[in-house]
Amino acid sequence: MSSKRKITVAYGDGIGPEIMKATLAILEAAGAQLEYDVIEIGEKVYLKGISSGMEPRAIQSLRETKVFLKSPITTPQGGGFKSLNVTTRKSFGLFANVRPCKAYSPFVKTHFPKTDLVIIRENEEDLYAGIEHRQTQEVYQTLKLISEPGSEKIIRYAFEYAKKYGRKKVTCMTKDNIMKLADGHFHKKFDEVAKEYPEIQTDHKIIDIGTALIAERPEIFDVIVTLNLYGDIISDVAAQVTGSVGLGGSANVGEEVAMFEAIHGSAPDIAGQDMANPSGLLNGAIMMLVHIGQPDIAEIVANAWMKTLEDGIHTGDIYQDGLSTKKAGTQEFAQAIIERL
Ligand code: NAD
Repeated sequence: MSSKRKITVAYGDGIGPEIMKATLAILEAAGAQLEYDVIEIGEKVYLKGISSGMEPRAIQSLRETKVFLKSPITTPQGGGFKSLNVTTRKSFGLFANVRPCKAYSPFVKTHFPKTDLVIIRENEEDLYAGIEHRQTQEVYQTLKLISEPGSEKIIRYAFEYAKKYGRKKVTCMTKDNIMKLADGHFHKKFDEVAKEYPEIQTDHKIIDIGTALIAERPEIFDVIVTLNLYGDIISDVAAQVTGSVGLGGSANVGEEVAMFEAIHGSAPDIAGQDMANPSGLLNGAIMMLVHIGQPDIAEIVANAWMKTLEDGIHTGDIYQDGLSTKKAGTQEFAQAIIERL
């Protein structure tokens, strides 16, 4: 029997195939013990008339492997099919979205060299429940669903994460001055669960000033736990302040299945041009290697990636005159990492 761990892989849309090719080449060169079940999801599947964006075989593959490495998918704005990301997160109970954002200063230019925070985003509820309707000719309604068990689960996950990784503080972000019931309940639950973790500092920020502080003083944050939509927005802000949205990876964790991806989207504006930074997906893949019990390979990949950044080999999004030594395309950047393994 093969000692390789089977995982499900989707190349996605836009820049997805390019960054997946780069990421898998690095994992293979590093000696990751992986076997891939490649599935098709997203645009191509919708065009076949499958409205969930996922063929039954793809769902079967995820049930079997329980680990999904996924490139970004294009989702139409203001109409069309539902987000496949949301469908996957909900179908497989991927309740926690873990998004570390760290500065790699002085090798990647950032105004905030001390940034090192982790956003823990609730991943199944909130406005992403997808319940929308037209009430009258002039009024549209989207329901924001927040449940007691869902809130408690993600808040507890954030504290346990902080404990496990030696983090000192957990900040809760809500808009409970306006949504007194839904957000108010989340904040109350946070205060309640916090009492069980006296060794961890806590605070709360209203999401608007919280977002402004991430953009201006990200180093004051450690772990942030928040609702689905707020978490989506602040993780792009946090990744961008570290240098580029192209750097951040994410883990979508459930009781049984876990999905690993970049935090950014399919970037159709640069698709097919070998310009995309594969670091976000690679960082997601590094988290995946730890999750499946190959932490030594994860460390080798992370070190080679950092050495590449230190040597000034940068994709266009993080390229800086005077700091970078070479502007590399997606595959060239991957090759540079492989040479440093
Ligand atoms: P985006 O993240 O795709 O792109 C935003 C900007 O960042 C663009 O200028 C893009 O060129 C740049 N960028 C993103 N990733 C980059 C990378 N790796 N290297 C260099 N530059 C990078 O956001 P968008 O344009 O708002 O969304 C495009 C599509 O992606 C939409 O259909 C959206 O629904 C989808 N999306 C998917 C996911 C996902 O699959 N998890 C997440 C977010 C958005």
